[in-house]
Amino acid sequence: MKITDIIKKNKRTLSFEVFPPKKADSFDLVKEAIEKIATLQPSYLSVTYGAGGGTSKYTLEIAKNIKDSFNVPTLEHLTCVSSSKKDIAEKINKIASSGVENILALRGDIPEDRINEDRSTWDFSHASELIQQIRASGKDFCIGGACYPEVHPEAKNSSEDIFRLKEKVDLGCDFLTSQMFFDNSLFYSFLYRLRDAGINVPVIAGIMPITSAKQIERARRLSGSFMPQKFLSLVDRFGDDDKAMKQAGLSYAVSQIVDLYANGVNNIHVYTMNNYSVAEFIKHSVSEIIK
Ligand code: FAD
Repeated sequence: MKITDIIKKNKRTLSFEVFPPKKADSFDLVKEAIEKIATLQPSYLSVTYGAGGGTSKYTLEIAKNIKDSFNVPTLEHLTCVSSSKKDIAEKINKIASSGVENILALRGDIPEDRINEDRSTWDFSHASELIQQIRASGKDFCIGGACYPEVHPEAKNSSEDIFRLKEKVDLGCDFLTSQMFFDNSLFYSFLYRLRDAGINVPVIAGIMPITSAKQIERARRLSGSFMPQKFLSLVDRFGDDDKAMKQAGLSYAVSQIVDLYANGVNNIHVYTMNNYSVAEFIKHSVSEIIK
């Protein structure tokens, strides 16, 4: 099922992100963890894709298995920056044959050793080119794109970033999923700016539950997200007690999600990090709200 149809059919949605195994020897373990998350019957499940090919090998296999065996619609992430147009054409055909109907079309991070290369010679410099190729393939995909409430780190400023986002939507993005954020007010003002810019597709809010103090540095590094004092106080108070920190971090994520739903943001995507107990806690905490 297409994500846009899921959004139309349900007043509120709650979806989860998982990542595929990195290596063959962890395949069974990771597959099992993801299958357990699928038993929670999220609105859909998205499967990430490594930019440099690192964790991309099993993305489609996992996405197809979840769709076929658990009847949960899946969203395959696809990055383009390290691929040729020919690679991507093959990949698009494979995804279409698998029956996975949704693609999150991403550029991917530029590998460090290629940052200073002349990008005019690359097949892909931006996600918009991937969106164009998917649309030109004629296959009937529902296409998503990434968006950044706190501005993508490479963008000159917020206006430029939103201008580029509008290009992606005009080229055929059906929905957007946001980078994680920890302060809902930043997301609300971002939504106003998108609507002002004429971006009217659904914007799915990305929430990352922080369950340990060491996860914070990683989240900061990956997203550059602002951490409000209210959140930092939890870490300060509970950071050295694993169980207490997990409980406090999950409660914070739930309070963000409930506030979003209460303010009319009806579509939430949770970065589960393949952790069943995280997905289960969140699903259980909002079960009446999303019913
Ligand atoms: P783009 O949309 O191409 O934007 C990148 C930058 O270029 C922005 O600053 C934008 O303003 C600018 N820009 C865009 N178009 C143009 C243009 N035509 N000319 C000039 N500037 C332009 N990474 C992975 O490797 N695997 C994943 O599975 C993955 N999943 C993700 C899921 C979500 C929800 C999000 C938010 C991110 C994900 N990422 C993933 C990270 C993503 O690949 C990086 O953030 C990457 O740096 C940018 O990808 P993008 O698709 O947003 O790029």
